[in-house]
Amino acid sequence: MPRLNEVLAALDALWPPDRAESWDAVGTVCGDPQAEVGRVLFAVDPVQEIVDEAVALGADLLVTHHPLYLRGTTTVAASHFKGRVIHDLIKNDVALHVAHTNADTADPGVSDALAGALDLHVVRPLVPDPSDDKGRRGLGRICELRHPMPLREFAAYAAERLPAAAQGIRAAGDPDQVITTVAVSGGSGDSLFPYVREAGVDAFLTADLRHHPASEAVQHTGLALLDAAHWATEWPWCEQAAAQLDEISDRHGWGLRVHVSKTVTDPWTTHAAAEAADDTTAGAPN
Ligand SMILES: [Zn+2]
Repeated sequence: MPRLNEVLAALDALWPPDRAESWDAVGTVCGDPQAEVGRVLFAVDPVQEIVDEAVALGADLLVTHHPLYLRGTTTVAASHFKGRVIHDLIKNDVALHVAHTNADTADPGVSDALAGALDLHVVRPLVPDPSDDKGRRGLGRICELRHPMPLREFAAYAAERLPAAAQGIRAAGDPDQVITTVAVSGGSGDSLFPYVREAGVDAFLTADLRHHPASEAVQHTGLALLDAAHWATEWPWCEQAAAQLDEISDRHGWGLRVHVSKTVTDPWTTHAAAEAADDTTAGAPN
């Protein structure tokens, strides 16, 4: 069995920590570099239910996309939910490692996994990393649909292909507009609107879109928007990352058992919508 530091070196080669954004907090949160690693669990969020799952599974290493601590802290006391996570990890000999914005911009990265889940053809990064001569690393991906379809159909298709979360998929724009090209970005894509507009794509699929930027994008440019659950847009990366580590394990003869958590950790757990009425004044706000 490999030592933790050997596995972490392999993960750092996939997602070099120095490619993370300056505000980010990536890398190893806890773990003994000399501990043996036999079982690894990948998940989006380092929340208590995922830690419980890692412990029940007998995992030695938990790799998550989101950081546990994004900002500094002065306590890991178990009276706080994040401190409880740390206690449970250490008491059960589970290391925690984070690959966040360094995984977003990687080749393949989080948005490649999202495009793959949607069976889209990736053309290039939405925001290319200028340090990459091959032009494959960077934030988001510009993609082509294999079969162009109206927005309403593409939204239903995306809801079918992405892991199910309570939110489902919201779409903005003319439901009959035919979508041929789409920019995708796993996680919150609000800040990428200028790049999406410049790319001239038909649609933008991401998460956490807000009213005003979404409204302005639709009004001014005719860009169609698809807003999926944040967790659902990033979960495909877990499968991609697990396959990458599996391949490395095979190459080194490590015999790692690599798992992907299927637990939905999107914070939104239920969704309600009134039946669409013919009388559009029904239920209208005063
Ligand atoms: Zn995210």
